Amino acid sequence: MKYVDEFRDGELARALANAIAKAADPARTYRLMEFCGGHTHAISRYGLLDLLPPNVRMIHGPGCPVCVLPIGRIDSAIALATQHDVILCTYADTMRVPASGGLSLFKAKAQGADIRMVYSCDDALRIAQENPSREVVFFAIGFETTTPPTAAIILQAARLNLTNFSVFCNHVLTPAAMVHIMESEQDPAAVAIDGFVGPAHVSTVIGSAPYEAFVARYQRPVVIAGFEPLDVIQSILMLVLQINEGRAEVENEFTRAVTREGNRKAQAMCGQVFEMRESFDWRGLGEVPYSALKIRPEFAQFDAELRYQIAYLQVPDHKACECAAILRGHKRPTDCKVFGTVCTPDHPIGACMVSSEGACAAHYTYGRFRVV
Ligand code: SF4
Repeated sequence: MKYVDEFRDGELARALANAIAKAADPARTYRLMEFCGGHTHAISRYGLLDLLPPNVRMIHGPGCPVCVLPIGRIDSAIALATQHDVILCTYADTMRVPASGGLSLFKAKAQGADIRMVYSCDDALRIAQENPSREVVFFAIGFETTTPPTAAIILQAARLNLTNFSVFCNHVLTPAAMVHIMESEQDPAAVAIDGFVGPAHVSTVIGSAPYEAFVARYQRPVVIAGFEPLDVIQSILMLVLQINEGRAEVENEFTRAVTREGNRKAQAMCGQVFEMRESFDWRGLGEVPYSALKIRPEFAQFDAELRYQIAYLQVPDHKACECAAILRGHKRPTDCKVFGTVCTPDHPIGACMVSSEGACAAHYTYGRFRVV
């Protein structure tokens, strides 16, 4: 398949791995965070860790949309469906995230709540049009990649003058989370990350420019990378070379879709519909200032948080779950006592075991029989 097969070529992958081994200074360790769960998945699926020298370490970051959604937000979504009798629409992965009281959206659906899995937020709008006597809420999650479609359906709902449709907005922002990771130590220079693999899909929307201030401030290189194995391994080589040369720059491995400016049309649409939240509670990271979006007052009639007076309640993770430490890059899936025993993709205890982009699910699926 064009644009896929050529980026999965084993010979080229081995050549790039050899270049990394040659470039990596044996006297030091390279600690590289892949921010995005899509990269975590690719690294596990294609066995890229096996190709890297031991002193090039990959650290999983918090860029899996369902993993960073706190339990309180899932509880609110379940309450919308069970207490307000709305038709709640959302993406598939969200359905399985564990919530309070042993519930999930799937279990609430099994108990009778009208919760529907959609492939696109456009489907939620269609469901609202087909059910004029019912209230329909789209439970919107995700990073900058999934934000423009949510903006588009709110604009479309306004054009159609739909009165039975609203959005429970939980969209979060990548650069703010990266800043938060670097600010986790009193002295950011002490943060044990030498460089970041940046997400390609997010960057097709926001462009590469938003990482420039981050790189200038924290002196950590960022290489924006695609999700095929050659993209990822090429980006690791680019990071190793930058670190060796003492450079900290934004580099773009995914030139086939990412530009410096990004998608201006999508940015304008998001700017029209959304504004910054002062703070948002992330699973694993806690309250992160200016890291998420809410619906602008001009579109208040489509804001489910206002319409249903949703009050957010912070709920702690399961006692045994190490998701918080894994999402911060402090622990690995195998550090969790219940990994692969009590907690599996069929019976997830924590959010990192739900989505294929979650570090625990990726490691369980592709690498649980070897030590990483
Ligand atoms: S294995 Fe399960 S319980 Fe443990 S950290 Fe991962 S998701 Fe949480």
